[in-house]
This record gives sequence, structure tokens and C-alpha cells, in this order.
Amino acid sequence: MSATPTTFPAGDDIARAWWNGVADGRIGYQVCADCGAVQFYPRSHCTACGSARCETRASKGAGAIFSITVVHRPPSEALRAHAPYAIALVDLDEGFRMMAHADPGCAIGDRVTAAFIPFGDRVVPRFARA
Ligand SMILES: [Zn+2]
Repeated sequence: MSATPTTFPAGDDIARAWWNGVADGRIGYQVCADCGAVQFYPRSHCTACGSARCETRASKGAGAIFSITVVHRPPSEALRAHAPYAIALVDLDEGFRMMAHADPGCAIGDRVTAAFIPFGDRVVPRFARA
């Protein structure tokens, strides 16, 4: 067991690049240079056509709540102090859906915009009503 509790797995280079973008206030997503498919989360290849030519773009951070739930039992001891907190599936205007934190008062269908908050050992996107 690690001496320093962490809240997220380390991930690979693609995941690290995404989290570094979030720390700088950007939500990255990909567009395939060959077929135009939009995908999230970022991967090494396009899940629609298999191309490795996926371009990373920064979302404007605006979208709508697709679903939302409140977490009362966090997945790790390191996150206990944050509970309860809301997790939503958000449909971003660029055409992808992501899971992220949201204000607990948000409801399905609400227009939302992203902010960035400290959570555990890093910064995470959190959506609030636009
Ligand atoms: Zn493609």
C-alpha cells in the first residue's frame, strides 16, 4: 500500500495529457482526421474507423445534463470528506458525452457550463447551471 493516498489511478500518457489539460482549465476531446468522428475519452485510435489520426481539441465546456446522481459513499477513504457530491453525464455541445462533477441542484436537461475545482489529489471539471 502506498504511503500517500491517491484518489485516481496514474493512467497512461493519453490520460495524463488529458488530466494536465484539465489542470489548466481545458476539457479535451478528439476528432478523427480521417472520418470526422468525435470521441471521448481520448484514445490512441478512432473507435469509428480505427485511424490513429485523432486530433485533440478543447471543448468550450458548455452542454446539457443527460443524467445525474448524488454519491453518498465515495469510492475511497481519500474522498470521504467530499461526500455527498453529484456526478453527472453531460452532453457537450461538440457532440460527446462525459461523466463529471456537477452542482447537486442540477437536473436532467439543464444547460450547464464547466468550472474546475480541486478534488482529491487533482483538479476536476464541475458543471453548474449556465
Ligand atoms: Zn475515424
